[in-house]
Amino acid sequence: MPLTITGLSKTYSNGVQALKDLNLTIGNNMFGLLGPNGAGKSTLMRTIATLQEPDSGEIWLDNINVVKQKETVRRLLGYLPQEFGVYPKISGLDMLSHLAVMKGVTNAGERKAMVEALLNQTNLWDARKKALSTYSGGMKQRFGIAQALLANPKLIIVDEPTAGLDPAERHRFLNLLSSIGRDVIVILSTHIVEDVRELCNRMAIISNGELLLEGAPAEALETLGSRIWSKLVTDESELTTLEAQLQIVSVQLLGGAHEVRVYSETDPGSGFRPVDANLEDVYFLNMERHTASQKVN
Ligand code: ADP
Ligand code: MG
Repeated sequence: MPLTITGLSKTYSNGVQALKDLNLTIGNNMFGLLGPNGAGKSTLMRTIATLQEPDSGEIWLDNINVVKQKETVRRLLGYLPQEFGVYPKISGLDMLSHLAVMKGVTNAGERKAMVEALLNQTNLWDARKKALSTYSGGMKQRFGIAQALLANPKLIIVDEPTAGLDPAERHRFLNLLSSIGRDVIVILSTHIVEDVRELCNRMAIISNGELLLEGAPAEALETLGSRIWSKLVTDESELTTLEAQLQIVSVQLLGGAHEVRVYSETDPGSGFRPVDANLEDVYFLNMERHTASQKVN
């Protein structure tokens, strides 16, 4: 059941063009939507989740017209919004049961079994009787996934679920996501490259509402081949010189020195050594090429 997006555009009333003629095909399994803040990720996800309409373009889930057949989509959808803001004083168990009713699970026995299974799956069983308002950030996100999984959705959308989680909570959360069945579409948006590397077999990078890259992370890495070079630099003035001479991919602090990574088809000299490309290189290079092309236009 693929999700096909064609020519999707959206401009908000304040003039911000959040999506620009976006084309994307998303198959089963985990799809990573990677982009910086303001890229248009949440706009795209809200549109797929039928919460807002595009100005133009189409979204098809198999033979369902997503923009037009909202009710049909909603029966198949599990959605964890970026701001899942309501954590009332009622318990996780009661809230999940309530949300199950809202999702149409009216049979009490079926609902009890479903809610209990989800509380176990998301490791919230022991906290099920505690008020949601007392849950930690990681527990809230896991509760968010539990509610998104109610009623066996075929399309699951999670918008920046790992933002703000500590490393242990983040790993627990990613493991949970990866345990979701393979016969469903899971779209994960994030600005954290590692999330995509660990979890997704397909990905897209978007920036300023435009698609920069679509494909498998492994393929994207292959295109960089042996063209990434690295060097540790401690001297600020050398850094400035290198920035003027070479195509810098990233400069990151590493033990008090700057790790400079450059893109070059041949040995750039100056003591650089070849290194394996990583997904961050792919991300930074695409972002930089996009910025450069916009300056020209
Ligand atoms: P992301 O989720 O990737 O951070 P968003 O889809 O939230 O990106 O935002 C894309 C752009 O659209 C941003 O410039 C943002 O400020 C703008 N935007 C988002 N929502 C609205 C809105 N409701 N009204 C006006 N502008 C918005
Ligand atoms: Mg967002």
